[in-house]
Formats: sequence, C-alpha cells, structure tokens
Amino acid sequence: MKIAWFCIPAHGHTNPTLGLVKEMTAAGHEIYYFTFEQFRAKLEAAGAHVILCDGYDFEMEDKENADRVGKDMAFATELLVSSTLALDAMVAEKVREISPDLIVSDSVAYWGKLTAMKYGIPYVSSTTTFAFNEQSSRYMKQGIGSLIKMIFSMPKINKQLRRLQDKGYPVKNILEIVKNDNATNTIVYTSKYFQPCSDSFSDKYHFVGPSIRPVQQPFEKTAEKTVYISLGTVVKNPAFYQNAIQAFRDTPYQVILSLGESACTFTDLPDNIQVYAHVDQMAVLSIADVFITHCGMNSASEGLYFEVPLVLYPQTPEQGAVAKRTAELSAGVLLQSADPDSIRKAVEEVLQNDSYKKAASQISDSFKKSGGIAEARAFLESITR
Ligand code: UDP
Repeated sequence: MKIAWFCIPAHGHTNPTLGLVKEMTAAGHEIYYFTFEQFRAKLEAAGAHVILCDGYDFEMEDKENADRVGKDMAFATELLVSSTLALDAMVAEKVREISPDLIVSDSVAYWGKLTAMKYGIPYVSSTTTFAFNEQSSRYMKQGIGSLIKMIFSMPKINKQLRRLQDKGYPVKNILEIVKNDNATNTIVYTSKYFQPCSDSFSDKYHFVGPSIRPVQQPFEKTAEKTVYISLGTVVKNPAFYQNAIQAFRDTPYQVILSLGESACTFTDLPDNIQVYAHVDQMAVLSIADVFITHCGMNSASEGLYFEVPLVLYPQTPEQGAVAKRTAELSAGVLLQSADPDSIRKAVEEVLQNDSYKKAASQISDSFKKSGGIAEARAFLESITR
C-alpha cells in the first residue's frame, strides 16, 4: 500500500515513528514522508521516500516555533491554518501524483488530517504524546476546557477557518482537528497501562508501546549508584545543572549529565560527575539507578522501559501530564523545588525506597507486553480504501 505520512519538524515526534516506517517499508509498502531536510537522512535510512516541506513560508520551520508547537497547544492551533495553507498547493500536486491509500499524520501535524478530509483518504493519527481527550487532558494544567476558551478568544480564527473552507477543507470547527477522538483510528506509542484514562478511548486506539533504540556503545558503571540527568533536547536551563552539580558533589554516586541545548561550561567539576553535550541515552539508562528528567514523553518512556525510577521535573503542561501519571503509578517523585538540597533529597528518596523501582518495572512490563510495531503494522494494513 501507499502511505502519505506527515509530521512536524521535531525529533520527539519523528523518532517514535522510525521503527514503524522501517517495518512498513521492509514489508514492501511505500511510505511518502512529508518532512524537513534535517530529518531526511534518518527517514531515508528507514526506507521512506522523503518529500521536503522546507521553504514553503511555513512558520513551523523556525526551530523555536517547531519546539513550541509540540508543547503548547494554543500556539499549535494558531499555526494550524497558516501551515496548512502554505503547503496546500504542493500537497495537492503530490497527492495527485502518489494517489495514497492512507494518510498517517502526527496528531499535531494537523495539515495531515486536513489533507485526508479534503481528498477523502482514510486517516490514522500517530500520537507520540499521551492521547488527550476530555478526560486525560485533565492531567495537564491546560485541559481541553481552557483550549476551547482559548480558541474562541482568538479573533482571527474564524476568518482563517473560512480560508480553509474556501480552499476545499470541509472543516467545521478547529476542535475536531486538534483533539484525539474516538472515531479516529489512532496509534499511541505507549501502553494502555501508562496512558491516563485509557478506558475512555475506543477500540480504534492501538497502544503499541514506545520504540526503544538499541544501545550503540555501552557506558561504564563506575559506582554502586548511577544518577542520570537530562532535560531533553529543547529545554535550556543551565542554572538547574549548576544546582545538580552542587547537589551531588561529595556524594558516592556516579552522575551523568546530558546538557542537550544548554551550552554551558563548569569549573571545578568533581570526579564523580561526567558532563556531556549528548549521550547514547539507551546506554546510560541501562546502567542508571535513577533518572532526573523533564518528563518528555520519549525520555520518561525510555527511563521506565529500562526500569529506572524517575525524579520528575516537568517544564510544560504536556510534560506535567507525564509527571503526574508517573507519580500516580508510584514510579517517581515530583521535584518540589530545584535547589541542590531538594534535588539530592528527591534522589535519595527514590534510591532508598525500593517501591519506586518496582513500580517502574511494572510499567516497563506493560510496555514490553504491548503489541509494538508488529501490531501497528497489522493495524495499518487492515485499513483499506
Ligand atoms: N536524547 C539522547 N541523548 C541525549 C539527550 C536526549 O539520545 O543526550 C534523546 C532521548 O533518548 C529522547 C529524545 O532525545 O529520545 C528526547 O525526547 P523527549 O520527548 O524526551 O524530549 P524533548 O527533547 O522532545 O523535549
């Protein structure tokens, strides 16, 4: 079958799809992946035909915008219309050329769903965060209720909605595009157990578990207890890293710190603390005893997959939902304050109390028992035109 696949320009939304893309192309299906130059190499390596969306006056190309869009629903909604219209002519031509049997689109690459509506092509949502409906969005500080208020307070939105309708998109309101609903075939890259309010989702939802990359280069464990710290690839928070170094100076722990986007240098770094711009996170997690994380969906899932309990330090509403669910299942503790004393105490609480590790193992188990990419492939193959 021929699949047109749409995603936003963000690693956190592209990476979880790579395993499935590879599985599908290996099975002989053609994947036409609408993406951006910076993701071309890894998608081609997974066997996809890449269609570039760079240079179409597309505001999400801006890195700051792209990062925000996966995290901030209000902002994403604002960009929805302009992005769809910017890509409209190019997508129309490609859809004619390819004649896809199916459209798969990241749940926040809204133009994918709109394209499916416009051309009457079957559609599957690829949801790389938790699935959010009325119930589960209560796990975010900014739930669907406030989203609705926000949408109607945007003066330009109705005018833009008309622009979409004028271009042939049969869309009645923005909300039918932005939230997960029970009528839509959906792949979610987590387990039913970890997904909040999973019973409120229909059987059109397939919770296939996170996709875990293999360890490339094993990491040496140099102490009885290893603490891994990362705030992902987007968050910039050098002050937090300073506090963490302060917290673990003069402790017996091996501390591995990945800086991500925070370019900073440290003087007087103690021997037990290793600082990197980027690490093989699978290698580090396979030796870690506790993970201080910003609760990005990928990082949190990877930590739990490796049965590592978490210290939760969320920075956005969506990460707040991941933190809340992890704490609710007792697989981590919320960091109350980011001073050195609080950081050390949170880590000690997790290390000294075996129940966190047990709860993390239970979530890991649920990931390993979910259907994975094989189930996702069978699901996609079952959808015919
Ligand atoms: N990551 C990595 N090495 C690092 C830091 C991060 O490989 O040193 C990977 C991590 O394994 C995860 C992704 O980057 O797959 C981060 O995604 P997440 O959703 O956790 O957070 P984001 O960066 O999107 O905020």
